[in-house]
Parts: sequence; C-alpha cells; structure tokens
Amino acid sequence: MTAAIVIITVLIFIAAMLCAVMLIAWRSFGRPRHALVWALAFAVATAQWFSNLALRLQADDNTALHALTAALGCLSNALIAVGFVQRNRAPRRVRPLLAAALVASLLIGVANFVEPVMGIRYSTGLGFGGLMMLVSAFNVAGGFRQASLPERAVMVMLTLFAAIDFSLAAIAMGPGTANDEGSLFFFRSVVTMLYPIAFTGVGLFSVFLVAADLADDMRRLATSDMLTGVYNRRGFEDSAERAIRNAQRQRQPLSVVVADIDNFKLINDRHGHTVGDRALRHFASRLERLVRRGDLIGRIGGEEFALLLVNTRPQDALEVVERIRRDIAAMPVDGAARIVMTASFGVTGLRPGDISLASLLARADRALYRSKLEGRDRVTSADELEEVA
Ligand code: GH3
Ligand code: MG
Ligand code: MG
Repeated sequence: MTAAIVIITVLIFIAAMLCAVMLIAWRSFGRPRHALVWALAFAVATAQWFSNLALRLQADDNTALHALTAALGCLSNALIAVGFVQRNRAPRRVRPLLAAALVASLLIGVANFVEPVMGIRYSTGLGFGGLMMLVSAFNVAGGFRQASLPERAVMVMLTLFAAIDFSLAAIAMGPGTANDEGSLFFFRSVVTMLYPIAFTGVGLFSVFLVAADLADDMRRLATSDMLTGVYNRRGFEDSAERAIRNAQRQRQPLSVVVADIDNFKLINDRHGHTVGDRALRHFASRLERLVRRGDLIGRIGGEEFALLLVNTRPQDALEVVERIRRDIAAMPVDGAARIVMTASFGVTGLRPGDISLASLLARADRALYRSKLEGRDRVTSADELEEVA
C-alpha cells in the first residue's frame, strides 16, 4: 500500500465523520441552513475521496473516473464556500459561486477527455479548490480584526488550506521529471501530509463555528430587549459593570443617565398598547441615533431607559442629554398620528467611590425624580442637586 492510498483512506473516514458531525450540529444547533450545506459538502468530499481511491487502486487510465473525481472535488469545495456565504447572510453571492463550480467542473471534465495531461488534470481542480477556500475565508467576517476567536480560527484554517491547494496545483503543473527529484519528493510529501490536517482543521473549526454562532445568538437573546432591540436590564447591567471597571482602572470619566417617558400611561390609554409599543421603539431608536458608538443603551423598566456614556464627563453628558430631550420632544412617533412625547432625565458622573452600577443608578434616579417633580420634560444633574443641598 502506498502512502497516497493510506492518506486517501484516512481522508474518506475524516470526510464521512465530518459529514455526520455537521448533520448532528445542524439538527442540534437550531438547523442553520449553512450547516446543512456543509454536511452536503463533506458528503460530496467523501464520494470524491472514494473515486480518488478507485483511481489509485486500479483505474488510473480511466478518463471518465478522473473527470468524476475532479467534478466532485470542485463541487465539495464550492459547497464549503456557499455555506460561508450563506452564514454571512449574503445569499446573492451564492449563485455565482455555484455557476463558477459548474463551469470549472465542465472545463476540467472536458480537459480530461480532450487532453488527459497530468498537470492540467490535477492543477485545475486544486487551483479552483484554493480559490474557493479563499472566497470562504473572505466571507467569514468583515475582517480579521472584527472577527471573533472561532471566526479567526476558521479563517486561518481556510487560508492554510488554500495555500496547500495552490502549492499542490503548482507542483502538478511543474514538469513530472523535475531536475531535482529528491527535493520535489520531499516537498510533495510534506504538502501531502499537510492536506489532511488542513482538511480536518477546516471541518473541525466549521463545526465549532456553528456551535459558537448558537452560543452568540443565545447570549444576545438573553441580554437584549425583544421590543426595542437595545439591551434589557440584565444586558445593560453586565456591560455597564464592565465599562465602569474599565473607567476606574484607566481613570477615565463616565456618565450614567436614567430616562423615563412622561405620562406614558396616557399614550397607552388614548392610542392603545400597540401605539405605546411603537412609541417605545421610537424612543430607543432616537437614543441609538444620538449617542456615540460604544455607549450603552438599556431598557431597564417598562418605559424607563438607561444610558452609559463612556469617556464622558457629567457636564458634557448634560449637553448630550439636553440634545436628546429636545429631539424626543420635537420628533413625532413615526407612523402614529403625530404623537409627540416628552421624557425626563437624571444624569450623574462616575466618582472615585463608585464600585458598582447600583450607586450610579440610584443617584441618577434621584435626579430623575427631581425632573418629574419640577414639571417633567427636563434634565437634572445629580451632582448639581447635591451641591444645592
Ligand atoms: P410619569 O410621567 O410619572 O412617568 O408617568 P407615566 O404614565 O409615564 O408613568 P407610570 O410609571 O405610571 O406608567 C408607565 C406605563 O408604562 C404603565 C405601563 O402600562 C406602561 N408600559 C410598561 N411597559 C410597557 C410596554 O412594554 N408597552 C407599552 N405599550 N406600555 C408599557
Ligand atoms: Mg413615565
Ligand atoms: Mg416609569
């Protein structure tokens, strides 16, 4: 038994196992479409390694089998890329990929019948495979920096796989009888050893990616408010505690704001709960528009919202919040019959003694209470309140 046959046999088992694992991941992790596509890709890869084995064992001169092997290889590589494109929620780019795979398979098939040259026979399929791995790598995330750890791992594996594909393609294109047979053999052996590793790596990390995506969705679900999409109380508290620790450590300012819609009960009573809900969504989306990226927004009660403004002193926060107050009072709730609402605000800044969000929220709440007492639709600073007292 040659080394190639051993490796191909191993690859048959790996591909079949990856197919099974991906099917289980699809069933257990919320049935994402791309996991099913990846399972199919590994099933096709299993078939490809089988026909590859058949070639090695006896029918090396069987042109049809060569064409079939190459076409299956193209298809499984394209399906991997299709899965990544789908996961990236860009389904428009799936069709060009499948078209490319079809064209490549046809070209390789034709090349095999017309000109069964060893170089072209292997290098076209491998080159296409490398290309599909690069397409996949570029579709994992917006960029390497924005990518999560599991996404980065997949990107590295895909790039490694592409590099191996391209190296193998280059070797296949080279003259069969190289000047230095020894070093060519060494290079080929090393690359052939790396191939199963990269193949397994891509499969393993893709399965892990499906699980990591599910964990991400669950976390988002548990920490965000279904109605408005901003953080719920728990999500806001978790992120705010972290932001407060960071600010204390780096001795940076930070402000916390509590906002409560004025006479919200009246909106519900006059226009109904649905319009009330729409008003809440409107309020949250105005907040999202008016604070900076990196600031935190949470719905911490029925019609009560909290903001955490990072790297912002309370006197600057007062300006931001005053701008928000004016915006809310001026913008009618979209789609509703010119419903205009107002809100009251309490603002406070981080102090050296603050060790948790609770003390900041309590101070901001006291200031908010004062805003309500003094006639609503206004902003009160907890710090100024205490100075006066
Ligand atoms: P104030 O100016 O003193 O804040 O008066 P208010 O009416 O806004 O205050 P109150 O706390 O008495 O009323 C809050 C109302 O918010 C009562 C509740 O029915 C309504 N509310 C709470 N959650 C929701 C929600 O998810 N959707 C809708 N439509 N209304 C909600
Ligand atoms: Mg209210
Ligand atoms: Mg309230």
